[in-house]
Amino acid sequence: MNPSIDGYAKLDHLFINGQWVTGQSHSSNTDTDPFNDQILATIAHADLAQLDAAYAAAAKAQQIWSQSLPQERVGLLSRVAQILETRSEEIVDWIIRESGSTRLKASIELMSAKGIVLEAASFPSRMQGELLASSFPGQSSRVYREPLGVIGIISPWNFPFHLSMRSIAPALATGNTVVLKPASDTPISGGTLLAAIFEEAGAPAGVINVVVGSGSEMGDAMVEHAVPQMISFTGSTPVGQGIGKLATGGKHLKRVALELGGNAPIVVLDDADIEDAAAGAVAGRFLHQGQICMSTNRAIVDAKVYETFVAAVEQRVKALKYGDPMQIDTVIGPIINAKQRAGVEAKINQALQDGARLVVGGTAQGNVLPPHVLADVNPEWAIAKEETFGPVLPIIKARDEAHALELANATEFGLSSSVYTQNLERGVRFARGIHAGMTHVNNMSVGDQPNAPFGGERNSGLGRFNGRWILEEFTRTHWVTVQEQGKARYPL
Ligand code: NAD
Repeated sequence: MNPSIDGYAKLDHLFINGQWVTGQSHSSNTDTDPFNDQILATIAHADLAQLDAAYAAAAKAQQIWSQSLPQERVGLLSRVAQILETRSEEIVDWIIRESGSTRLKASIELMSAKGIVLEAASFPSRMQGELLASSFPGQSSRVYREPLGVIGIISPWNFPFHLSMRSIAPALATGNTVVLKPASDTPISGGTLLAAIFEEAGAPAGVINVVVGSGSEMGDAMVEHAVPQMISFTGSTPVGQGIGKLATGGKHLKRVALELGGNAPIVVLDDADIEDAAAGAVAGRFLHQGQICMSTNRAIVDAKVYETFVAAVEQRVKALKYGDPMQIDTVIGPIINAKQRAGVEAKINQALQDGARLVVGGTAQGNVLPPHVLADVNPEWAIAKEETFGPVLPIIKARDEAHALELANATEFGLSSSVYTQNLERGVRFARGIHAGMTHVNNMSVGDQPNAPFGGERNSGLGRFNGRWILEEFTRTHWVTVQEQGKARYPL
């Protein structure tokens, strides 16, 4: 492991039942900095016996953890929040080096993770049951709220620390235990770093387990395993669809939370504040090189303000600094790996061949692809139809408001979206017409607050994160009736 990082020591191991252990599979992970290709760590993968051991440890620990008093769980999460403060530099450093995040994005990510930890710290005292009116005399009808048991978590590389934390913290807060498999590009910032933080905070052995392995090698076993009652998956739509099938159609039925891909539009109506809309489009698209599920994947602009908007975007994008993510003023760093970068470049080239107007462009240096803006994009082209995880903003012209709404909804996805207008009620009407889980009026499409429901419609997934929504996703109701007075009456 990189010796320049003076922090936790065993992050290149697996964490099972409170122990740091070496992966026993023959395959391993070469953890690489996407900016300079420096090898950060080599981590031997878990084999299936270790996955089994992780689930067994989680199941055993859950029996005790589910009985812990609310204040014990609050205490753990409070200590985790404190560690996020004291180790903020170390955490930000890992996020930058492993995922190519700029310092700005890594700091936002840490702040988001802290937000969900603090929100989850309120859950132990919010695990409320209910007393219902009963249909029978003398009977009390109660609803208890219980943890699910063990939750298997599979997370992606783009916001690795936060997207793992947003499942771990609510799961533990509600009395569940977890087995986490981070993405291969971010095994530390999305995996073992979190284990080390919870270990330092005093999590009992087995409450959190982290196994590193490739999705294709151990993904099915992780999902089909008999122990987990739920799989919380964040990642791409095709992989999520496969996981959904396995989890709900296999031998052991289980719940799923699927947070998948997006194709967020920013819609600029004819009365929008164009400078504000351009600022929202640029921030919403180019933050983290466009590698965010809520990223603005296409701008849909009313014909009356189209050229003004294109010019305003051009001016802003030309001023964006790209390059080394360690430098404080860099706003566009590298794409996660060469394969992803090549895929984004291929889509840009195809759009240009098909007739898109190149407004801003440039050639990649290593994995750093300069920001691109393409105007006059046909909504049927792949660059607009598919999720593009890269720094490219396609701009589409809409005839009018009705056409803009039609274009906004012409997608298989439905995660986030945004609309700009100076008439707020017009904005709300438009927002409610968009088939998506999240819409922001006069703000960018990237938005996540720990107490607000986060999630998508259609092929963007199932379920909602954050606040009371995740509390409900990660718990179950148990209806219990008690014949308190007299005898029950039977129909036979
Ligand atoms: P991915 O689907 O390739 O991988 C996600 C995770 O799934 C990784 O841990 C990977 O190892 C694992 N995996 C891969 N194949 C598997 C299999 N067959 N079985 C089980 N696990 C498997 O996604 P990615 O490239 O890491 O992330 C980018 C995608 O994630 C984008 O589509 C993005 O929109 C989406 N995303 C969605 C949200 C959201 O909240 N909706 C948030 C972030 C990212």
